[in-house]
Amino acid sequence: MSNSASEDPGLDEAPILHIDLDAFFASVEILDDPSLRGKPVCVGGSGDRGVIASASYEARRFGVRSAMASVVARRTCPGLIILPGRFDRYEAYSRRFHDIVRDLTPDFEPIGLDEVFCDLRSLRRLGVRPVSAANELRARISSELELRCGVGLGRNKLFAKLASKQSKPRVVGGRLVEGAGVFWASREVEDRWLAELPVRALWGVGPATASKLEKLGLQWVRDLSRVDEETLAHHVGPAMAASLFAYAKGEDLREVVVERALKSVGRDQTFAKSLEGIDEVLEMSKAQAAVVARALRQESRVARTISVVVRFDDLTSVSRSQTLSFGIDDEVSIAAIAEALLQSLELRQAVRLLGIHASSFLEREKNQVQLSFAIETSTDDARERATALSRERQTGSEALRDALDEVRRRFGRAALGTAAELGDEGIHVETQRGSHAFGPGDARR
Ligand SMILES: [Mg+2]
Repeated sequence: MSNSASEDPGLDEAPILHIDLDAFFASVEILDDPSLRGKPVCVGGSGDRGVIASASYEARRFGVRSAMASVVARRTCPGLIILPGRFDRYEAYSRRFHDIVRDLTPDFEPIGLDEVFCDLRSLRRLGVRPVSAANELRARISSELELRCGVGLGRNKLFAKLASKQSKPRVVGGRLVEGAGVFWASREVEDRWLAELPVRALWGVGPATASKLEKLGLQWVRDLSRVDEETLAHHVGPAMAASLFAYAKGEDLREVVVERALKSVGRDQTFAKSLEGIDEVLEMSKAQAAVVARALRQESRVARTISVVVRFDDLTSVSRSQTLSFGIDDEVSIAAIAEALLQSLELRQAVRLLGIHASSFLEREKNQVQLSFAIETSTDDARERATALSRERQTGSEALRDALDEVRRRFGRAALGTAAELGDEGIHVETQRGSHAFGPGDARR
């Protein structure tokens, strides 16, 4: 393949990312029992009617595939080890997998335990490049979970999913050939796939649908444009017909559906070149605050807790958080709290990772203090004006100023910020409220 991670498209060309863990169940079993390493291992039903759910690459070298009848798999691969599933373990790994993805963006949609779609568009302001984001994900999954994965990038879900499949290792003539790990479906690749792929490569086309289509003489994706949608609908149903028609043109209108049971939104970023000094750290934190604010507003939530996490070059980490008596969802307030928290830290080394998280959500309607100045304008100029306007209003906001005071009071002398961002009243160390007024565990509204 000419296309690989060496080409780095922009977010317009590759807004959708699909990530899929390799041989997930089997890999978790091998991690939990290293004596299985290098052996053909499967997870699945071992009885007469059992089916393989997940096969290690060692098993795949012998031709074992998921969805294969276990009886056939055993015949294909003598000595095959078939283990019953332990879903609590897979779920535990899956949660950690999702946590890593969430650090990249809150805009993600899990598919099963080991696949996720991400919409990268909200990361535009951070200057995130899709291939770098994909490499960062793979590196963390490898170092923190000891699992491997493939990442696909594309214009829509259809191509992102095909691309992640393309990125994976494959078995050729009984030998395992490494994949690219990250694969981007460029326009050239899209055209080639639409011309060359069989219909059964399309997402949602299982063996039954594929054989129906093939009976209609529709073996290839390119064949789909030859029939009319009504005829197709008659055979495969209207929903599948509509999808297939769109796919044949390279279109896919499915959005990435973001998880609703949201506990926190946040943004962690690891830097190729570590940040030096508080000014660089604060500048980056402002951009991150904007991403967090946007994610909150998309969810119609306001957050009471803002956390920052900093990892230094020696890999030690420190985090700080502040819970407010009211919720916020705008970038100015989030950045202000984050800044106060960051200034309370002693930056003893260069900063390798910086993260801002928002949690303790309130429904927006239940928020007593409305600090929200949703910035919906699209042009940079208009957005800048809106930001300046909201900054003006908010530095005048008593509630926010109290909260900033509180951060500084809680975290002591090191927390004293510059006088400028505290407005006309200068630095407040004392506050009129008691220590019970804020802080983690505070039960007030
Ligand atoms: Mg997988």
